[in-house]
Amino acid sequence: KKASIGVTGLAVMGRNLARNLARHGHTVALHNRSEQRTRELVEQFGDEGDFIPTYSAQEFVDALDRPRQIVIMVKAGAPTDAVIEEFAPLLEPGDVIVDAGNAHFADTRRREAALRERGLHFVGTGVSGGEEGALHGPSIMPGGSKESYESLGPLFEDISAKVDGAPCCTHIGPDGAGHFVKMVHNGIEYADMQLIAESFDLLRGALGYEPAQIAEVFRTWNTGRLDSYLIEITAEVLAHTDAATGKPFVDIVTDQAEQKGTGRWTVQIGLDLGVPISGIAEAVFARSLSGSAGLRAASRGLPGPTRVPIADATGFADDVERALYASKIVAYAQGFNQIQAGGAEYGWDIDLGAVAKIWRGGCIIRAKFLDDVTAAFSAEPGLPTLLTSGDFRKAVEDAQDAWRSVVATAVKLGIPTPGFSTALAYYDALRAERLPAALVQGQRDYFGAHTYRRVDREGSFHTAWATPERAEHPA
Ligand code: NDP
Repeated sequence: KKASIGVTGLAVMGRNLARNLARHGHTVALHNRSEQRTRELVEQFGDEGDFIPTYSAQEFVDALDRPRQIVIMVKAGAPTDAVIEEFAPLLEPGDVIVDAGNAHFADTRRREAALRERGLHFVGTGVSGGEEGALHGPSIMPGGSKESYESLGPLFEDISAKVDGAPCCTHIGPDGAGHFVKMVHNGIEYADMQLIAESFDLLRGALGYEPAQIAEVFRTWNTGRLDSYLIEITAEVLAHTDAATGKPFVDIVTDQAEQKGTGRWTVQIGLDLGVPISGIAEAVFARSLSGSAGLRAASRGLPGPTRVPIADATGFADDVERALYASKIVAYAQGFNQIQAGGAEYGWDIDLGAVAKIWRGGCIIRAKFLDDVTAAFSAEPGLPTLLTSGDFRKAVEDAQDAWRSVVATAVKLGIPTPGFSTALAYYDALRAERLPAALVQGQRDYFGAHTYRRVDREGSFHTAWATPERAEHPA
């Protein structure tokens, strides 16, 4: 019997994906650069399903049914190219190579184009949910050709997370669309985590709550509209006590957040596409700032305000919940705008409602909230921003006073809330009748003759700023 799919790269992600496939009754061919991982998988988990261990590229390819479907789950970057080059020559037209690692979508576009020339389908696929997700049901975001999804889709939908019976997997769009959407998913994840971290800092800094108390607050929030994986694990982390010292775990961890790079990619591409994703950008910068040890050490003695505790603690905690929810809506609105922009730039025609739907389960940003996001985009696929959609519009309306008062309190007490602040500034800028961008245009025309457009007439104009008359000319 041949395998319906093969996995090469059997570190934690590949191994768990292979086991997930086997547990769902699929015969899985196994391969890894070093044989040890393959042997270990079969020794430890061989009884979970039908595995065909192989120890050479040729043996791996020969173990597969046609069209052959190979999932590559290796270190992103050069290793992925090396593995593609190892297998592509052994495959035949119509076969499918899946890259399920965290590739940059531009690499995926390049690889897809090159393999298409050779008659092979290349499917860059986002997989979210970490190692637990890979084993028990991740959120899967495959790009590539429609045709490749005909054979691959049923397998991936089978092993993906399910929410209300619906699989957390859908064909995102051609070539790099899947990895692009996974990238934005991670960018949103950064923003969401930063907002939650700021909420913690506010409850601690303004109210003097202990981590365990804040864990309780998060647990309560998790029973409402903020119900999500990230809030749930935040409560767990905050409630955890360090065994060695008896201190709250969060107090013994170095306060320098690291990053692997997908958040940074999201911001870089956001800049290239000209999409304002300030919430994601601030979250990436906040991690960079936290890691700037020298800069922070040098700045530690700078003056700040005296911290006066807040009188109405419960009221303030409720306000933080509202501010968090409103800021979260902004972060997601920005992320979905980036997907819209990427889709328009690369001709992907991405269904935003379908994306929100497959993020409801399996992935790190899974949340009840995504039900409403799904509904919003399903009702109006071309929605310009989530902020104007029914329930979300109402939520930000209800949050107005709380949102502003929380940001004002943070500023007054000197608690850094870049996420909350930028979300509110974005919101106010979007709804503004007029922006000071008009003045910026005037400045640009003054020093660089960059021209401007008028509100009352068509065309571009330049004012001769250097002459006393300052006459205006059509440009
Ligand atoms: P790693 O990223 O640590 O990669 C290790 C695997 O890559 C091993 O199987 C290793 O083989 C193989 N490998 C490395 N270099 C080469 C090479 N030049 N040629 C052939 N094989 C090579 O493994 P993970 O399981 O953590 O992640 C796999 C992919 O999934 C990555 O792209 C990662 O970004 C992505 N991902 C990871 C998540 C996570 O939570 N860890 C979540 C979502 C995606 P060998 O055993 O021989 O060294």
